[in-house]
Amino acid sequence: MLVNFTDSIHQGKPLVLTERLEAPLVFPDLVLRAVAVVARAQKAGSDLWLELNAQAVAELQCDRCLQALALPLAASSRERLRYVSGHSGLDLIDEAGADLYVFGDAPVDLLPLVRQALYLALPDQALCQSDCQGLCPTCGADRNRQGCPHQWPGGPVDPRLAALAELNL
Ligand SMILES: [Zn+2]
Ligand SMILES: [Zn+2]
Repeated sequence: MLVNFTDSIHQGKPLVLTERLEAPLVFPDLVLRAVAVVARAQKAGSDLWLELNAQAVAELQCDRCLQALALPLAASSRERLRYVSGHSGLDLIDEAGADLYVFGDAPVDLLPLVRQALYLALPDQALCQSDCQGLCPTCGADRNRQGCPHQWPGGPVDPRLAALAELNL
């Protein structure tokens, strides 16, 4: 997702980029499909403001029953970019406690910013349904589909925590 900001920074031309990714973005713990991005850059003083709006469908697992689920995500972010002659790429620096990205005349890839915005939009907990009964920590049965003889106080548990409990820490 390459974009060239030189006309925006040198001539003050506003920039709008609309892009839809054909291929999914694959990460070790997450797959994002149907990624669509609208990026707008506008000069403000000697810097650029970059506004990103991104949408995607995240392929996740339910935290309780591990069933696959597709979750629509919407994210937006606003970043300040500063032109530095001779710089290549897009790099984050800290300026008096505020985030600032620096760029040069070469095209920059917006994908890392899109990825970060979508990651931040992920929910703390992914559930197939709000009252998902989860897996039985004793026999592993999917309590949404079948009963099992086991009871546990406190309701459904995160199977990852159940695995920890079995270690008798
Ligand atoms: Zn579930
Ligand atoms: Zn059970």
